[in-house]
Amino acid sequence: MTSDRAASGIVQPRDDIALMSGYHSPQLDVTVRLNTNESPLPPPEAFTEAVANAARSVTWNRYPDRRATELRSRIAARHGVEPDRVFAANGSNEVLQCLLLAYGGAGRCAATFEPTYALHSHLARVTGTAVVEGERREDFTIDGDAALALISSARPSVTFLCSPNNPSGTVEPPSVVASLLDAVGSTSGLLCVDEAYAEFSPRSALELIDDSTPLAVTRTYSKTWAMAGARLGYLIGPRWLVAELEKVALPYHLDALKQAVGIAALEFVDDMQSRVGAIVAERTRLTDRLGGLPVDVWPSGANFVLFRPRGRDGAEVWQQLVDRSVLVRNCASWPRLDGCLRVTIGTPAEDDRFLDALEEILT
Ligand SMILES: *Cc1c(COP(=O)(O)O)cnc(C)c1O
Repeated sequence: MTSDRAASGIVQPRDDIALMSGYHSPQLDVTVRLNTNESPLPPPEAFTEAVANAARSVTWNRYPDRRATELRSRIAARHGVEPDRVFAANGSNEVLQCLLLAYGGAGRCAATFEPTYALHSHLARVTGTAVVEGERREDFTIDGDAALALISSARPSVTFLCSPNNPSGTVEPPSVVASLLDAVGSTSGLLCVDEAYAEFSPRSALELIDDSTPLAVTRTYSKTWAMAGARLGYLIGPRWLVAELEKVALPYHLDALKQAVGIAALEFVDDMQSRVGAIVAERTRLTDRLGGLPVDVWPSGANFVLFRPRGRDGAEVWQQLVDRSVLVRNCASWPRLDGCLRVTIGTPAEDDRFLDALEEILT
C-alpha cells in the first residue's frame, strides 16, 4: 500500500478508508417507495405553517444558540429528564458519530449484534474504532449468555443494541437490556440503545437512564416524526456523557432554523401519535397478509417488516417488484440475511400495491 501510494504520486486516504465501500441506500424512480423506513405521510399543514413563521424570526446574521437550549429543554420535558441529559445533532447518525468520536478511536472497539443497522459498524470504522461482531440467533433474538461472553472478552468501549432492530424488527426484552448493562458496567464500557423506531414499539430503555448507569438511548425525528428531510436526532444519557459529546460536536452544528423546526414539531405530538397508531395497525394488516403467502416473516416492533420468499431467489423477487414499480429494501445478499427483503409500512394503498404485486409474483 505504502509503495503504491508513493508510486501514484497523488494523496491517498487512510488505508482503512480506502478499503471501504461507503453506505448505500439505492433509490429508483418507482411509484411505491417502501425501502427507507420513512413515514408515508408528511407532518400536518399547521407544522409547515409554524416552520414558515419560525424562518421569518431567525436572526440570520448571527450564529445560532450553540447549546440549542430551548430545543434540548423541550425534548427533555417530553421525556421527563433534565436538559443536560439531552444531546441533539443532525440526525441520530451524527449523534452516533459523536459518541464514537468521544468513546471510540484507535485502540478501542465497538460491539454490534449482527445482522443489525449497518451504520453502527460503519461509523465505528470511520472513526478508527475496531468492530467486534456478536451474533443473533436464527430468529434474530440475542442470546444473553453469548453476548456476555463477547463483552467480557472483547471489552468494547461501546456496545450497540438496536431495539427495535433494523432490519429484523426484533424488540429486545428488558432482561437482555439488563444483562448487557451489567456486562458493560463490569468492563467499563457503555451501552448505546438505538431506538430510532421506539414509538412503534411496546418498550423503551429510557426509564433506565441515570447518572450512575453507562447507558445512552438515541432517537430520531426521521421516522416517527415524519421528518427525514430535517436531519435531526438526539440522545438521552447521563450528564457526564452528554458533556463529552458536546466537546466533539462541531461548534454551531445545529443551525437556527433546524432548532426551531425541532421545537415546532413537538407541538404536534397528537398528530404524530395518530400517524404512528395508523402505521402500527397497518403493520398488523400487512403482516397478516404476508402470513398467507409463501414467505417467512418475522414479528416487527418497527415501521417495517422483514420477510423471505420461500424457495425463491430474493434478489429476483426484488427485481420483479421493481418491474411492478414497487421498491423494497433488497437485503438478499447481506450477510446472515440470505434471500431476505424488508418492506416499509406505507399507506394502505401503497401496501396493497406491494401485497398484490408480491402475491402475483409468488403464486
Ligand atoms: C433510520 C435509522 C436511524 C436514523 O438516522 P437519522 O440519521 O436520524 O435519520 C438511526 N438508527 C436506525 C437503526 C435507523 O434505522
